[in-house]
Amino acid sequence: MSNERQVLALKYRPKRFEDLIGQDTISTTLSLALDTNRLSHAYLLSGLRGSGKTSTARIMAKALVCQNAPTSKPCESCQSCQSANENRHLDIIEMDAASNRGIDDIKDLIEQTKYKPTSAKYKVFIIDEVHMLTTQAFNALLKTLEEPPDFVKFILATTDPLKLPATILSRTQHFRFKRISDKNIIHHLSHILNIENIKFEKQALEILTRAGQGSLRDTLTLLDQAIIYSKSIITINTVTDMLGMIDPAFMDNLFDIVIKKGDIRPIVQSLESYEVGQILDEISIYLKQKMLLNDIKFDLYIYDRFFKIIADSKQLLLMNSDSGFVLILTLSKMIEAVNLKTIDEIINEVNTIEVDSSVNPEVYNLREEIDNKNEAANQQLQEHLINSDIQVEQKTDNSELLFKKLIENIYNKSYDLGECFEKSFALSSYEDNILKINSTASGDCKTLLYKNFTHIKDFVVEVFGIDTEIEFEKIEKEKQKEMARIVQPSNSNEVGSMIEDIELHEENPSSCVASMSAMKKPNLSQVELNIDDVLNSKMTNTAIQLFQPKNPPKIKSKL
Ligand SMILES: [Zn+2]
Repeated sequence: MSNERQVLALKYRPKRFEDLIGQDTISTTLSLALDTNRLSHAYLLSGLRGSGKTSTARIMAKALVCQNAPTSKPCESCQSCQSANENRHLDIIEMDAASNRGIDDIKDLIEQTKYKPTSAKYKVFIIDEVHMLTTQAFNALLKTLEEPPDFVKFILATTDPLKLPATILSRTQHFRFKRISDKNIIHHLSHILNIENIKFEKQALEILTRAGQGSLRDTLTLLDQAIIYSKSIITINTVTDMLGMIDPAFMDNLFDIVIKKGDIRPIVQSLESYEVGQILDEISIYLKQKMLLNDIKFDLYIYDRFFKIIADSKQLLLMNSDSGFVLILTLSKMIEAVNLKTIDEIINEVNTIEVDSSVNPEVYNLREEIDNKNEAANQQLQEHLINSDIQVEQKTDNSELLFKKLIENIYNKSYDLGECFEKSFALSSYEDNILKINSTASGDCKTLLYKNFTHIKDFVVEVFGIDTEIEFEKIEKEKQKEMARIVQPSNSNEVGSMIEDIELHEENPSSCVASMSAMKKPNLSQVELNIDDVLNSKMTNTAIQLFQPKNPPKIKSKL
C-alpha cells in the first residue's frame, strides 16, 4: 500500500454489522437471519445516498462467503473474508446498474448465476442503483430473481424504490434505510477525529453535518476537505469559510439589529458575496435552532412571521426578482414583524382602556346603546326560538309581523329580490300552517321571483316554521279585486303565474301548493336547490323542446 492518505469514507467504511451507523434495526434483523440460517434469495436495500446501503450489502456478502458462513460475525481472518474486504472475492459480483442497465448486461449476469461459486458456499450478486435498469432488463431478471439456484443470493440497492416494478418488489425482502440522524453522524465524526488525533470545535462538526444533509459519505468527504483546509484544528470559522456559509456569530449580530430596529445596510453589504437563496436557508436553519433551544429573544409569533417572510422571499426569488432587493425586503419586513402587535395584545389593550364618560359622554352613551341593542336582539332571538316551538296560534296573531320579518330577510339576501317580493306579494292570511299570499307578480319581477323561489321557500320556513305551506292567489292587475286562485287543473299556458310555472308538474297538474309538508326535514340538496322544481319547470321544458332537432325552434316562444 502506498503512503497516500486514504479518504475517510473508505478508511472508516463499516466492516461489521455493529459498525453500521444509525441502522440498528436493519443490522439486527440481518444478523438474526444469518445466524438462524433463514435467508431469503433476494434482498432489496433502499434509502438515501450515504445511508449505508452499499456497506450493508458488502458486509452481508462477506457474511455469506466467510468460511463460517452463514454468520453475522464473519471471522475477518479467512481467505474469503480478506478478499471480500479488499473487494476482490470472485464469488461476490458487484454491478452498477447506472452504467450497466441494458438487457445484455443482465443476460451476462444471469449466465453467471448458472456456475457454482469458486470457493465460497454462496455466490452473491450486488446490483447497485437497481432502479436504473431498463424495463427489458427487469423482465429478463425476474425469472432468475424468483427462483435462483440455491447457492445464489441477490442484494439489490436503490435510492428510489418507487421506480422499481411491483414484480421486483414482490420477489425481494425490502429493508428501508432511515436518514442517519445528525446526532449519530456528529458522534461518528468526533469518533474518527479522535482516532485521527485531530482537534475540533463541536459546532464545526454540526455545520459539516448540516451541509452533508443526512448522507454519512458526503459528510465524511466534507470532513476530509475540512481537515486539509484547517491544518491543525477544525473550527467554526474554517468550516463556514470552506463551505461558503455564514458564520453563526454573524447571524446573532444580524438578528440583534433586526430586533433593535437597527440599520440593515452594513449587513446587506457584507452579505453581498453570498447567494440570497443560501442566506434565506441559513436564516431558516438559524431560527429553527433558536426555536429548539427556546431562545427568549424570539416568541412563537415572531418565528411564525419570520418563516412566512422567508417563504415569501423564496417565492420572489423563484420569480427571478432582483436578489439584492429580495434580501433588503426580507430584512425590512422582519424588522416590521418584530414590532407588530398580536391580536390578543390589541384586545387586551382595548379592554384596559377606561372610558371616562365625563370626558367623552358620546362614546360612553354609544357603548351603552350598543349593549342595550345587543340585549334586545338576544331577547328577540330567544322569543323567536320559543315561538317556533310553541303553537301556530300564536303565530297567526302576529302573522303581519312575521310577514314583515320575511320581507326583511329577503331584502337582506338581495335588495332587488326583496323589492320584487314586497311589490308583488301581499299577505292574505296565515292559518293552520297555510300562508296565503296574494300575487300580482309580472314581468322581470316574476322572473326574478321564479328564479329565487327555492330561497324564498327557505325564508318562509325560517320565519313561519317548517310545517308551513304556501298558497298563492293570483290577482289580475286590471281587476285587482277579483281573486282567481290558480288551483285550476289547467293545461292552458295562458294563466301566467310564477307559481304555476313552478308547480305545473305533468303528473300532478292541479297542485299549486308548495309542498312544504313533504319537506319536514329537508336534506341538503333540498335546502340548496329543489332540483325537481327546476327540471319540471315550463322554462326547462320549453328549452328542451327548442333544442330538440325534431322540433324546429319556435321564434314566438312564450318565454
Ligand atoms: Zn471469514
